Amino acid sequence: MASIKLDKLRKQFKEVLAVEGLNLDIEDGMFVAFLGPSGCGKTTTMNMIAGLEQPTSGDLYFDGKRMNDVPAGKRGVGFVFQNYAIFTHMTVYENVGFGLKVRGCPEVEMKREVGKIAELLELTPMLDWNAGKLSINDMQKVALGRSMITNPGIFLLDEPFSNLDASFRAYMRGELKRIQREIKQTMIYVTHDQVEAMSMADRIAVMYCGQLYQWGSPDDVYNRPVNAFVARFIGSPNMNFIECAYEVENGQGFLQQRKGGLRVPVDAKRRRLLEDRTGPNNLILGIRPEHMKVYQQPEPNALWQGTAYALEPLGPLTIAHTEVGGDRVQVKASGGYRTRPGDPQWVALDLEYIHIFDGETKLVIR
Ligand code: ADP
Ligand code: MG
Repeated sequence: MASIKLDKLRKQFKEVLAVEGLNLDIEDGMFVAFLGPSGCGKTTTMNMIAGLEQPTSGDLYFDGKRMNDVPAGKRGVGFVFQNYAIFTHMTVYENVGFGLKVRGCPEVEMKREVGKIAELLELTPMLDWNAGKLSINDMQKVALGRSMITNPGIFLLDEPFSNLDASFRAYMRGELKRIQREIKQTMIYVTHDQVEAMSMADRIAVMYCGQLYQWGSPDDVYNRPVNAFVARFIGSPNMNFIECAYEVENGQGFLQQRKGGLRVPVDAKRRRLLEDRTGPNNLILGIRPEHMKVYQQPEPNALWQGTAYALEPLGPLTIAHTEVGGDRVQVKASGGYRTRPGDPQWVALDLEYIHIFDGETKLVIR
């Protein structure tokens, strides 16, 4: 087990700045997700932590000890990558036990340790099988077991399930969380899938273009995104964005939609923030599909009238794509909600949950 500190960690590949001065404090035993789109520097950061890549500048500490000059093999880091790395000519038992065998671990102890890991990963019935004959799902479990058995203080997983089918991924989300609680290793899980990050991690590092945009709990990144990028990356369907300006009329402050002039009143706290602000009156209103309601008839609380555009019936819910004042929004409706394109719609917004972003910097105004 170990804590990890990244101090202005930076990696430049010729003209590509892959990681730009990353600062991060990861507590011992934490389950952390590095989340961001492809190419944002997740793997490069992992490789620097593992010792497979040397930082261009900046420092890296495990338990307060500087690690920059410690070779990969001596860092006590285990890793699992997207492409399962197992010996296909060996049995599951030999694969899982490999790390202990090369250390000269006695057979009795190895049997016991492999047995424990196999139980944890539900591989016990397959121990004598040839690993090359396993399904891809089980091969990746074997790769996990191989890494886990050496009991590294830090466990790095780089998109380990992205080649696997959706139902297995969903199953492994639950399993991995349980396993991490049991083995208590500090775990960093790299993913571009916000569902994986949200469902498993204690803390999420949202990355974009080599930068850390937000470091927080799943609750933080979902409810208090620091900018429009994080707001859009977290949650499905995406948060709706509507370009607005702040206006005051008859003593009431409101956000006025640029395209269609629709209005949303703002409370006193937001009003103060908006009135204290300098710079262009260029704002983005953000609201999640689950914080809106759509109706087929006028409703007292439905501020906006719009038009049905398309529907996605998903079984337990329906995503209603609705046009309001020239902007298209997605609203979560009940499973049985049905409309035809062009039908009039009334849309309510839960004003508690609106987010306001600066149209230029895309930073939240809070
Ligand atoms: P991610 O894992 O988030 O998809 P990476 O860390 O793999 O992102 O890559 C970050 C950026 O660095 C990308 O632009 C990628 O092309 C670049 N990059 C990664 N490794 C190398 C390398 N060995 N040489 C040159 N550029 C690289
Ligand atoms: Mg990667």
